[in-house]
Amino acid sequence: MTITQRPKVFFKTFGCRTNIYDTEFMMGRLKEFEITNNECEAGVIVVNSCTVTNGADSGVRNYISRQNRNGKKIIFAGCGAETRGAELFSQTKVFGVIGHKEKENINELLLSPAPFQKLGTITAMPKQPIKTYHNRCKAFIKIQEGCDFSCSYCIIPQARGKARSQDESNIIEEITSLTNIGYKEFVLTGTNTGSYGKDKGTALGALLKKLSKINGVKRIRLGSIEPVQIDESFREILNESWLERHLHIAIQHTDERMLKIMRRRNNFKRDLALFEELSSLGFALGTDFIVGHPGESEEIWQNALVNFKKLPLTHLHAFCYSKRDGTLSANMKQIVNGSNAKSRLKELQSIVSQNNFDFRQKKTFLEVLIEEKKGDFYTGFDQFYNRIFLKTSQDLSGKWINVDKYEAKREGNYAAF
Ligand code: SF4
Repeated sequence: MTITQRPKVFFKTFGCRTNIYDTEFMMGRLKEFEITNNECEAGVIVVNSCTVTNGADSGVRNYISRQNRNGKKIIFAGCGAETRGAELFSQTKVFGVIGHKEKENINELLLSPAPFQKLGTITAMPKQPIKTYHNRCKAFIKIQEGCDFSCSYCIIPQARGKARSQDESNIIEEITSLTNIGYKEFVLTGTNTGSYGKDKGTALGALLKKLSKINGVKRIRLGSIEPVQIDESFREILNESWLERHLHIAIQHTDERMLKIMRRRNNFKRDLALFEELSSLGFALGTDFIVGHPGESEEIWQNALVNFKKLPLTHLHAFCYSKRDGTLSANMKQIVNGSNAKSRLKELQSIVSQNNFDFRQKKTFLEVLIEEKKGDFYTGFDQFYNRIFLKTSQDLSGKWINVDKYEAKREGNYAAF
């Protein structure tokens, strides 16, 4: 009896946590294919792309060119499929293009003998829950998709469509099936996570309360949310023990004029009050910040810096503005030169890295999920979303541990066990 070797597929994931979820989702849909973690032995490579900046686009394109030279069959998925799919397909750089709507049909599409382009409408929300996660001890759960905001620099609403929420029953079913196989930590993600429920007459806070009651759920983490989305239902769960003690709330800038130019819905006065309120509850706080956006004059920058220093931030995801064709900002004048933008970025990063170090100096009890072993150290994140490195002879993979003696160093906390 001959055993036919199933074709091997490698998934290359670019971008955000939502893409990590989408990759797992597509992996879970494959039947006639074998998933490999080894790129070289794969005949087919599914590129789950990101298109948030021109830089992200070129990174994906370079990868595809490299794998084309290695003779791989490339299937193009993710946000780039919606914005660049047709172009790469017409250039025969990719064998297949799979839009967000078509991810659930990936098995059938990969069986196609002929090149294909399947984009479909970006209004859909796949209903099939993820049953397991490959190589991970925490699970990313996509609770919503798309965005109704219109930030001037952002292409995502065009790539992911309007905001729409996953059915609450699907989310509960997904988390329940994952707790049944031992998962305890869940990261709720989406394109604009905080807009969950708007289209279903509910809200993120109400969902979190329900999810926390699922047997086996130990800790819930959240993707990035918007300041304007911290409502009463969310405030009700702030002191719950199952909620991580870290929140990432995207402000993008700290000068009111810049926030208007960027068409942001938040304003600095309210943001500062919100961050002070959350910090007083003991939260570690992170944010997003774009430096060097067109219009960021020296005067605006100096004012933004003064305001930025008032924020009790411990984590920062900041980057230099990167033009994205198809956005409003791409046609704006008053460009900020690159080296100025880079030095402004450095200034913000050093402020927050010092804040983070000071925050970790305040010795406290840490609850850690060990995610992997790196060299001599086991490593994972505590409830404040700070990394810890543990030296021990025990096997701690995937274990939950409590730490109250540790040394805070610049790159993280260290402890021996
Ligand atoms: S909130 Fe703004 S930055 Fe975030 S995805 Fe929506 S449009 Fe883009």
